[in-house]
Amino acid sequence: MACAIALPASVNGLKKKGASGMFTRRQFAQAGLAATASLSTVRKPARADEEKKMTFEITKTDAEWRSALTPQQYRVLRKHGTETARTSPLDKNYEPGVYHCAACDLPLFSSDAKYDSGTGWPSFWKPLDNAIGTSIDRSLFFSARTEVHCRRCGGHLGHVFEDGPQPTGLRYCMNGVAMKFVPKASG
Ligand SMILES: [Zn+2]
Repeated sequence: MACAIALPASVNGLKKKGASGMFTRRQFAQAGLAATASLSTVRKPARADEEKKMTFEITKTDAEWRSALTPQQYRVLRKHGTETARTSPLDKNYEPGVYHCAACDLPLFSSDAKYDSGTGWPSFWKPLDNAIGTSIDRSLFFSARTEVHCRRCGGHLGHVFEDGPQPTGLRYCMNGVAMKFVPKASG
């Protein structure tokens, strides 16, 4: 349904259209196969390898990030955590403005591209230019998801799925705690 559960996008799509809400037999078999395959390998190296390849403009030691961020921000941005659905005040925020990275203040998303995905996480159909980077997240044993991070500091923001609205058809499912909202200056 969303970030935390993160069924494959195709399954999400089916569920959205109300197609029984269950895996088809074929999808189930595929998921089972994938699960078997990943369980037989160690999960950590994939992510560690990918992170090693990524370098960012803003880098801090783990201790520096820990003191710069709140415990909740640190858990999401630096440890790839996921906030509990429907806990972020930004989920239902539709004021005009810009959503910045909570760690380095880079503008990430405009309110113009925000929509209510019904998932309980702030959702957007596109990021601002040159704002984000992506990687393959294999931390869930039954599927690979596309992870989204701040391109400047590498802070984990959420995931992107292919069941969003037009014109992009994408759903950037973000953790509200990883962002701060800057309202458009009035007047
Ligand atoms: Zn950042």
